[in-house]
Parts: sequence; structure tokens; C-alpha cells
Amino acid sequence: MPAPKSFKQELVCVFGQPVAENPTQYMIEAAFKHHRLDWRYLTIEVAPKDLGDAVKGLRAMNFRGGNLTIPHKVAVIEHLDRTTDAAGLMGAVNCILRQGDELIGENTDGKGFVQSLRDVADPKGKRVVIFGAGGAARAIGVELGLAGVSHITVVNRSNSRGSDLAKLLNEKVKVEAKFVPWDGEYAVPEGTDVIVNATSIGLFPDVDARLALDMSSLKEGMVVADVIPNPPKTRLVREATDKGCAVIDGLGMLVNQGVIGFKLWTGIDPDPKIMRAALEEVFGS
Ligand code: NDP
Repeated sequence: MPAPKSFKQELVCVFGQPVAENPTQYMIEAAFKHHRLDWRYLTIEVAPKDLGDAVKGLRAMNFRGGNLTIPHKVAVIEHLDRTTDAAGLMGAVNCILRQGDELIGENTDGKGFVQSLRDVADPKGKRVVIFGAGGAARAIGVELGLAGVSHITVVNRSNSRGSDLAKLLNEKVKVEAKFVPWDGEYAVPEGTDVIVNATSIGLFPDVDARLALDMSSLKEGMVVADVIPNPPKTRLVREATDKGCAVIDGLGMLVNQGVIGFKLWTGIDPDPKIMRAALEEVFGS
């Protein structure tokens, strides 16, 4: 084996708990290899009480950045120097970027989603229904608002989270939004262009779980998106495809948020095909 030119490697990481099933490492490492970068992406399990120390370690060891999974996305903010405007609005960070001595918090989840949407439709002026009001829904709602959608209906089981998100969208993002409590089958209103499942319904192993959504209200040509990456062909994705909707699966969003993070850390636009192929190997396409 030829001797390496240098023993110095650049490092990025994901902090989470647990992170045993986090697939991001596979796609980021595949892109490092494809672009011949001698970088490493480390998956590190960090307990909530140790998060501050872990971020200090990231600084001390000169990591170029990192990702955060639940439960660290909100708690990490106090350990960073600042956030981007969008991450500040969401109140959640899933990506850390080092600029000089500064650690900056960004949120690439919603941006990844909007990139997937742009592949099938221009978000401008669209009327959107989002199921869910957790971290993924907040990130998607804020980025859709910033991308110029005209109206967002937030449909959520718990009233407090749902109305908080609608308030954030109306008051801070300045997009017209309303909250509808999710009790029973929800029929999508006439004139809806885009539907997003941003709940965890359908995530492995509960693959047969079904959204309380009146499928007869879906119309041909509507865009139906699911954030669930595992499995990518969720029940919603399959049923919406049968109805003639344009479908976006959760793998696309996961790849796109990875593409954005990769570019922030390395300055290189990675090949999304390589990253998606790595994920498909893990999840099955
Ligand atoms: P949170 O725990 O913050 O939010 C979960 C949301 O799902 C809440 O709105 C919750 O409602 C709702 N929910 C959960 N179970 C049910 C149910 N049985 N019936 C009705 N509503 C339900 O999680 P996140 O927002 O961070 O993540 C949600 C999903 O998004 C996860 O599965 C995650 O894998 C996926 N995700 C995908 C990404 C990608 O790149 N593809 C990126 C980030 C997340 P309530 O408020 O009532 O509890």
C-alpha cells in the first residue's frame, strides 16, 4: 500500500443520542471518497448533559463542522457563537460550520426540502399543507415561507406545538399561516398545491402506519412530499403515486441537506447521485 502523503485529516462529526441508525455517515463518507478528500465523518454518541463539553472538544480538536440529531438540535445553540438567520427563526440547528474561530449554527433540513421541491415545482405562490409541527415541520415551514409560498396550513395533533408554529410563520416569517387541530381524517382543501408529511408516521419499523388523511381529497398533479427516509417508499408515497401526484420522498431531502452541509464544510459541490446511491444501499430504494 502506498504511504499517505499526509497524516493530517480534516474531521466533521455527528453528535446524537442514539446515533446508531444515523445513515448520514454513509453518504458523506461516500462523497469524501468520490471527491478524493482525505476527510472523516465521525458518528459520536453524546448524552445531553455532555453536549457543552462535546462542542468544546469539537473546537479544541479543530473539527471543520458537524451535524446534530435529536435531542441536541435546540440545546446546542447556547454553545455556539451564533446562528444563521433561518436557524435562529427555527430555534434549531442541525449543522455546525467553523469559520475561523467561530462556530456557526445552520439548519439544512428545510433547505434540503425546498431543494427537493424545486426539482418538481417552483414554491412561489403555492398553497401548502404541512402535517406535523416538530423540528422537521418548523424547518420546512420557515424555509417554504422564505421561498415565497403564499399560504401554509399546519395540521397537528397537539394544539400547543401546532399553534406555536403557525404563530412563528405569521409573525416572524411573514407568510400567511393557520393551525388546524388534527382530530380524525383530514381532507385537504381545494386549491392546495403541496402536501408535506413532516411527522414521524411511517418511519421504520412502523411502516404500515397511516396518516389520518382523506386520500380522496388528493388530486392528480398535486405535489405530495414525505420526510420519512426509511423506508423511502412509505405508504403515503405509494398511495399518492397511484393517485397521479408528483411525489418527493424523504431520501431526496436527506441527500439535499447533506449536499448543503458538505458544501459548507468543504467548499465543494458534491455529486448528489453518489450520496443517494450510498443511502439507497443502506435503506433499499
Ligand atoms: P419531532 O419529534 O420534533 O416531531 C414529531 C411530529 O410528528 C410532531 O408534530 C408530532 O405531533 C407528530 N407525530 C408523531 N407521531 C404522531 C402520530 N402517531 N399521530 C399524529 N402526529 C404524530 O420530530 P422531527 O420533526 O424532528 O422529525 C419528524 C420526522 O422527520 C422523523 O421521522 C425524522 O426521521 C424525519 N426527518 C427527516 C429528515 C430528512 O432529511 N428526510 C430530516 C429531519 C427529520 P405532536 O406535536 O402532537 O406530538
